[in-house]
Amino acid sequence: GIKRGIQFLCLKSPNERKIGHCTKVPRGINMENLQSGYLFPEIFIRESNHVQKKPHARLIKLGVGNTTEPIPDIITSAMAEQAHALSTGQGYRGYGPEQGNMALRIAIAEKFYQNMGVKGNEIFVSDGAQCDISRFQMLLGSNVSVAVQDPSFPAYIDSTVIVGRAGKVQMETGKYGSIVYMKCEPENNFFPDLTTTPRTDIIFFCSPNNPTGSAASWHQLNQLVEFAKANGSIIIYDSAYATYITDESPRSIFEIPGAKEVAIEISSFSKFAGFTGVRLGWTVVPEELSYSNGYPIINDYNRIVCTCFNGASNISQAGGLACLSAEGYQALSTTVGYYKENAKILFDTFASLGMKVYGGRNAPYIWVHFPGFSSWDVFSEILENTDIVTVPGNRIWSRRGRVY
Ligand code: PLP
Repeated sequence: GIKRGIQFLCLKSPNERKIGHCTKVPRGINMENLQSGYLFPEIFIRESNHVQKKPHARLIKLGVGNTTEPIPDIITSAMAEQAHALSTGQGYRGYGPEQGNMALRIAIAEKFYQNMGVKGNEIFVSDGAQCDISRFQMLLGSNVSVAVQDPSFPAYIDSTVIVGRAGKVQMETGKYGSIVYMKCEPENNFFPDLTTTPRTDIIFFCSPNNPTGSAASWHQLNQLVEFAKANGSIIIYDSAYATYITDESPRSIFEIPGAKEVAIEISSFSKFAGFTGVRLGWTVVPEELSYSNGYPIINDYNRIVCTCFNGASNISQAGGLACLSAEGYQALSTTVGYYKENAKILFDTFASLGMKVYGGRNAPYIWVHFPGFSSWDVFSEILENTDIVTVPGNRIWSRRGRVY
């Protein structure tokens, strides 16, 4: 801990402390409680060491879920046009609407939620899915209980810790005492056994799942919705990779009857439109979804958006509209196809080596089983022999893991 008001060691980075002036501000207990799961810096250090050893290596980075392919011109032109319009009296726009441009909200409803009864006013345009996950955490406060898939995308767990509802981390497992971890592995077809899953207020559910690449079937999601309904829980459904689904798996939780009473859906332009840097996403908050006292959650979410956000950039939103035009969407399907082709090459390569491989089909990444090896050893071996950076996926580090 950091002592108050004296010259002491201040935290500078995960493992480093600064000597010199420290403020008198204590570090919050929830931030202290975040696990030092510094996977990405560790990957970066190992990557840098590798480059020092082999300066001419042509690294292929499959680590962080970043995009690499250029955004189609029809989309960047729409953003450029919007940017130039801001220099004109006629085209200038300032704040609002905080919930997003209604034309874009309607376009999202029509493109992704046809025949699901989702209306434009239930869609809140945002600066990305990651940000909306935390906005929901803020909305729900610190007194609700949480379940996550295991393995899971780190943002659900870390944001639960940050709002103070995770409990203490258990040293042996690296898991938090108050979070329910729903095992989703090959043995159970990547879907939790709901007969033994305890009730929680909130269930984070990501499909296609990051990191396993598995997409839940209609039947599985129907079970999840029934489970949430029976328990009076809310599902926070993350469909950031939905456009990568190639089989019959639902692309939205709202394909399931009754889901509007128990779920919200968070999604993103990052993965299908290469908007990781542009920043654009959305959340569907159905009018039917309410708290135990009957108060509509959409009203509170609107309040959070107006208080803590103020709306997505109008330039990004112009790009978003262009993505959903017939021509824009067509151009993007080529990019999505490119990433899927990469995943297929990886999948086929590992499968041809006799390894158990998952994902790839409904997601742009794969999950590979190396039984008997530590995932860091596998990471190092692949890096040293092939100059490819992967993500180790062991339990404690199960953060965007791709190799387990
Ligand atoms: N949800 C999942 C499952 C992700 O993998 C990611 C990014 O890797 C995000 C959300 C974050 O998306 P955004 O860029 O919209 O914040």
